[in-house]
Amino acid sequence: MNQRRMARLLPLTLILLFALCMTGAVSLGEGKANICTITVGDGVLSVLKNGKQLETYTIDGQNPVILHIAGDYEVSWDQATNTAFAKDPLRISSAVDREQKVDAALWQLSAEARACFWQSFNTATLRFDQALQANTAGETLAVIADIDDTLVDGVMYTADVLQDGEWTNAAFGASLASEACLPLPGAVEFMNYVVDKGGVVFYVTNRDPSLREVTYSSMRKMGFPMADEKHVFIRETGMASSKESRRANIEKDYKVVLVLGDNLEDFADLFPVKQGNDVRRNAVDDIRDEWGRRFIMFPNAVYGDWEKAIYRYDKTKTPAQRMADKLSIFDQYKYTR
Ligand SMILES: [Mg+2]
Repeated sequence: MNQRRMARLLPLTLILLFALCMTGAVSLGEGKANICTITVGDGVLSVLKNGKQLETYTIDGQNPVILHIAGDYEVSWDQATNTAFAKDPLRISSAVDREQKVDAALWQLSAEARACFWQSFNTATLRFDQALQANTAGETLAVIADIDDTLVDGVMYTADVLQDGEWTNAAFGASLASEACLPLPGAVEFMNYVVDKGGVVFYVTNRDPSLREVTYSSMRKMGFPMADEKHVFIRETGMASSKESRRANIEKDYKVVLVLGDNLEDFADLFPVKQGNDVRRNAVDDIRDEWGRRFIMFPNAVYGDWEKAIYRYDKTKTPAQRMADKLSIFDQYKYTR
C-alpha cells in the first residue's frame, strides 16, 4: 500500500474504531504478564496473553458463555458489562475484584489494623504465660500459627497485583524474597517469646511446595525461630486445603496451647465454606469461649474463606454474579428488610 493511500485510510479507520468503542462493540481489558487482554468486535472475541493471540471465538451477543481458553487460562464472558474476565487463579485481576479489594488492602495498611495485630499478639502472650503457669506436669507447650497475613504481611504482594502485577506462585515467591516482605506487628517478638520460654512453634501454611525454600529463608531473615523442615508444614502436592491432619500430627507429640490465624480454616474444620455465611457465623458463636483464649484471630479484609462463603465457593460464577451474591447478603441485615 502506498503512503498516499494509507494517509487517506487512516482517519477512516480511526473514526470506525471510535464508533465501535462508543457503541460498546469493543471492550478492552488491559494488563500485563498473566492478565489476559480482551478484544471484542464484529461478533468475534479474541483472547490474547502477553500480546500473543491464543484463540478467537464467535459470539452471538445474546447468551452468556463460558470460554475455555486453550492452555492455562479460563475466561468467562459477562454480558452485563460486555467484558470477559479471567477466572481463578486470576480473579484478582478483573476490574470488579480490583475495585473491591483496593479499600480492603488499604485497610490492612491502616493504623487500626496495626493496633489489631498488637492487640492479638499481646493477648497471645498473656494466654501463653497462663498456659505456662498451669503446666505443672512440665509438658512441652506448642503454638501453631498460619503464616500469611497472620505472621507475615501479604499486602506487599496484593499491592503489586492490584497494580496489574503477576498473580502466580513464582511472583509470590519473588515477593517473599524481596525487601518488601515484612512481619506483622508483634509476630516475631511473640514467636521468639514462646521459644525463649521453652515452647515450640509450628508454622502451618497452604503455601505451594515450590515456595518451601523461600519460606524458610524469608522467615529466618525476618527473625522467626524454628523456620525449618521440622516446624514448617506446607500444603504438599495433592494435600487438601484443610489443615486438620497437619494440626493433628503436631498434637500427637505436643500440648498445643494456642492457634493463630486469619482464616477460620486455620483453627478447625468446623466452618464449612460451601454452607454460606450464616452457618459459619453460628459455628463461631458455638465456640465463643475459644476466641482470645486458645484461638487468636487476626483481621484480613482482603481475602479468605469469609469471601468464598458468600458465593458458596462456586468458581463458575462471574464477578458480576459474585457481586450480586455479595449485595444480597445485606438483605437480611438492612433496616428496611
Ligand atoms: Mg493466612
